[in-house]
Amino acid sequence: MTDFARTRSLFNLPPGVIYLDGNSLGPPTIGTSDALTQLVQEEWGGQLIKSWNSAGWMTQPRILGDRIGQLVGAPQGTIVVGDTLSIKVFQTLAAALDMNPKRHVILSDTGNFPSDLYIAEGLARMLGRGHTLKLVAPEAVLSAIDNEVAVVMLTEVDYRTARRHDMKAITRRAHEVGALTVWDLAHSTGAIPVDLRGAGADFAAGCTYKYLNAGPGAPAFVYVAEEHADSIQPVLSGWLGHEAPFSFDLDYRAGRGIERMRVGTPPVIALAALQTALSAWEGVAVDEVRAASIELSELFISEVERRCRELILASPRDPAERGSHVSFRHGEGYAVMQALIARGVIGDFRAPDMMRFGITPLYIGEREIRAAVDVLEDVLTRRLWTAPEYHKKTFVT
Ligand SMILES: *Cc1c(COP(=O)(O)O)cnc(C)c1O
Repeated sequence: MTDFARTRSLFNLPPGVIYLDGNSLGPPTIGTSDALTQLVQEEWGGQLIKSWNSAGWMTQPRILGDRIGQLVGAPQGTIVVGDTLSIKVFQTLAAALDMNPKRHVILSDTGNFPSDLYIAEGLARMLGRGHTLKLVAPEAVLSAIDNEVAVVMLTEVDYRTARRHDMKAITRRAHEVGALTVWDLAHSTGAIPVDLRGAGADFAAGCTYKYLNAGPGAPAFVYVAEEHADSIQPVLSGWLGHEAPFSFDLDYRAGRGIERMRVGTPPVIALAALQTALSAWEGVAVDEVRAASIELSELFISEVERRCRELILASPRDPAERGSHVSFRHGEGYAVMQALIARGVIGDFRAPDMMRFGITPLYIGEREIRAAVDVLEDVLTRRLWTAPEYHKKTFVT
């Protein structure tokens, strides 16, 4: 059994704060600060460049990739960490399109994260072979997969509504018609059980700074199914994806398997934060995190709907169709969220009208959920959000 009292004790949230934004930026674990100090003072400061070998810096992207693999149903040796998610989406989509050269449609949905769509547009333009990005409503994806589609590129859990795609059914349909799949797991990893291998996913990529708590700008990870890993042609053919980086050959030869998805020098400081953050998952079963998340989300929804009638649920009502955040609409959602944040309840806002609340059982429990609804009800019934200071727009919402 997962001991949530233990996982809670690994996080040190500021007093008076109820943090419901771990879906956007997870908090640090207690060990993170010491781990970073140790890295800077002993490995970097003490051993200097020797640490590339002695501290295993160069192999961290694979070791941590394997650890993440346990959370997303990926066999050992199929995940590597590095770069940002946008870059990993570019690499995987490019590889998938290259595997299906006779087709030119990239299918995605209107709920996908804009960066993924922008990346697809930019890649299509660069390839100059007439690829088009076709967007349909999330509900229409399955029926839109036909034999013109080269690649189905989706984010499994919608960043705004938390609506969840059926990865297995969509992947099966894609394969039936000869298409490949690229899955963005930004809002899945550490939030819901994922079975990449079982679903037959071809490619996937995800974040480590959301539910994995590795810190702002922490690197992404990329998955390539074993059957593709030795044949894909990397477009970002950087030296660390080369078969023998330290031979310094003039010609590129792709490295073995997932190694070829590496690009350049690993972000060692960020990897140290990731390593420590992942240790919070020792002894934690994703299924139990999911069960706790559903219980807390159901409580949150029922309390909000009972006490805050101005708010309209934007997430699917059926927990099986949701990820691990809950969104509500309100015409003045931005100001309501600012008023909440000023009172220590931190969620976030996604234009045009959506307030998001992340449910992260590793460090959030029933007490926090109930207390957050108390504050939300107070902000709404007393119209505290009408104060002018809550209407000033900041860059990051
Ligand atoms: C958070 C998020 C990203 C972020 O990409 P970065 O390159 O790490 O900034 C991409 N896709 C989705 C679906 C996200 O939620």
